[in-house]
Amino acid sequence: MPVPASTPAIGVLAVQGDVREHVKVLTRLGVDAFTVRRPAELDRCDGLVLPGGESTTMAKLARTFELFDPLVERIRGGLPTFGTCAGMIMLADRIEDGIAGQETLGGLDITVRRNAFGRQVDSFEGDIDVAGLDDPVHAVFIRAPWVEEVGPAVDVLATVPEGPAAGRIVAVRQGSVMATSFHPEVGDDDRVHRYFVDLVQQS
Ligand code: GLN
Repeated sequence: MPVPASTPAIGVLAVQGDVREHVKVLTRLGVDAFTVRRPAELDRCDGLVLPGGESTTMAKLARTFELFDPLVERIRGGLPTFGTCAGMIMLADRIEDGIAGQETLGGLDITVRRNAFGRQVDSFEGDIDVAGLDDPVHAVFIRAPWVEEVGPAVDVLATVPEGPAAGRIVAVRQGSVMATSFHPEVGDDDRVHRYFVDLVQQS
């Protein structure tokens, strides 16, 4: 079936990580969703998703695939972008607990702490309120970062409601760039992706 002209083209960076899950949710939302492994595919994007995975590997592979500089340029140029978990780290202007020399694409005026929740709570789930959504989101965290600090242009969309990490920032937005520490691509709740698709359509 031909895709109507108004359908946004949203690419998922596909050098490493949980690419398929994002493509699946976006496709379910009626988006023209595809993988991005080369600059020509990036050129087609009205929006971009940076998946979860391993940020150190993703950054290195983005260099290998000659996507790193084009990605920086597009994001700086205003390409609506959504990062989840490792993707949030990729979008952060500053990292704590990165590996030596770890590079990020930048685009969000935030400091993230990698693997912030600690070894005992490597992975966990919980319901959290996200600004702009009526009901809480069931959030899955896997060796997740949190946001340590945000600049003045950044809106906080969600914080951890309770427990030892209560108050920690886990979702943010700066203009048309957004990121979550958790993985909205797992499960069948597509409201966070829909929020992003709306951002792409408004841009
Ligand atoms: N700990 C990973 C990193 O530092 C992120 C984990 C994830 O994306 N689930 O990149």
